[in-house]
Amino acid sequence: VNVGGSVDYYGLNDLLNDKERLIRKQAKQFAESKILPIANKYYEKAEFPFELIPLLKQLKWAGGNIKGYQCPGMTATELGMIAMEFAKVSADIATFYSILQTISMLPIYYCGSELQKLKYLPKMAAMDSIGCFGLTEPLAGSDASGLLCEARKVDNGWILNGEKRWIGNAPFADIIIVWARDTESKKIKGFIVEKGTPGLNVETINNKISLRMVQNGHIYFKECLISDDQRLPNANDFNSGPGKCLFLTRIMAAWISLGVAANAYESCFKYVQSRKQFGTPLSKFQLIQERLVKMLGNLQAMTLMCLRVSHLFDQQKLSYGQIGLLKAYCTSHGREIVSLARECVGGNGIVTDYGVARSFVDMEAIHTFEGSYDINTLIAAREITGHSSFR
Ligand code: FAD
Repeated sequence: VNVGGSVDYYGLNDLLNDKERLIRKQAKQFAESKILPIANKYYEKAEFPFELIPLLKQLKWAGGNIKGYQCPGMTATELGMIAMEFAKVSADIATFYSILQTISMLPIYYCGSELQKLKYLPKMAAMDSIGCFGLTEPLAGSDASGLLCEARKVDNGWILNGEKRWIGNAPFADIIIVWARDTESKKIKGFIVEKGTPGLNVETINNKISLRMVQNGHIYFKECLISDDQRLPNANDFNSGPGKCLFLTRIMAAWISLGVAANAYESCFKYVQSRKQFGTPLSKFQLIQERLVKMLGNLQAMTLMCLRVSHLFDQQKLSYGQIGLLKAYCTSHGREIVSLARECVGGNGIVTDYGVARSFVDMEAIHTFEGSYDINTLIAAREITGHSSFR
């Protein structure tokens, strides 16, 4: 038995195939050798570490599960290994790579024309072009399908007017996927908006205390003209557009919360074994022991759920409710883990040098993005009861 445990207490590696184990090992090596040495520095400056982009490019993992178009066509479990191992070191980089890179490519893959796929996906897979996914608005967060951003049809294309908020990567993205409401049909449609388009303005959201390296933008569209060939032809409403892209990214959010929580537990475990008070290691106190076991139990449940749901995703047997339950469960139990770990590390639990502090604050953003805990819970509840509590 791996007594330190973490995600391997019940032998995660034994449940993986050879390729998944290899990807896990490569992701761990990359995270520890390339991300870890610079993570705290960029976190404190609240800057994105662009120096990592050439190194991430070499991994050739961008494009996630997309098949063809020079994308790697990975399984959800393989992607989960990357998300989890990156998140153990930096939730920011895990979010950038596992969610943002995927969520900006999937709309083109699922809803784009063949010409759009050929034009954008290979460049994005090579990370020569960075994308972002603009769904949330100042007045439409959890109620994403109630979005207000407008798309008005004109002779030579579409005119966008409105705002988007919280959009990860937006301050430096080359491409923005924008979901907007057709003023005529009132249905949600998708658009590919390129950086520099007249009428597009992006402001960086400053003063974040969580996921400080991820650059989130507030986007303004004012009479922004988009040509017809930049509209995603197969996105005709919420479910065929943005909704379709959230399946995989919510699974990735669960793997990321597992990685963040695992790091908090592992850092805390080492700390309580070595730190002495009242002449004895903290880990000898029963109250500390109970916290360790509670954290370890949560980690096993989260690990096994992430793995099973990833397999179901690859078999295309997964429902929206099942994903909602995974995201809600992993972020709420992850949040309990980081809070217990922070407590066990005492004052050192609030400084970044001891491994726990960043996990503690980053979990707050993960708890909210990709649908908050409440919304994912209600999605699962709607499926099991047949009653929607939303409206
Ligand atoms: P609100 O919807 O205002 O919710 C506030 C609170 O009310 C929450 O606790 C919520 O759970 C609760 N609540 C709302 N409705 C109900 C209900 N019916 N029943 C019970 N409780 C309810 N969006 C993008 O489009 N693209 C991105 O790249 C992106 N990246 C993000 C990155 C970060 C770091 C963050 C913080 C957010 C990001 N988001 C992004 C936005 C994110 O998806 C929203 O923040 C999230 O959906 C919640 O919306 P809101 O913040 O407006 O909160």
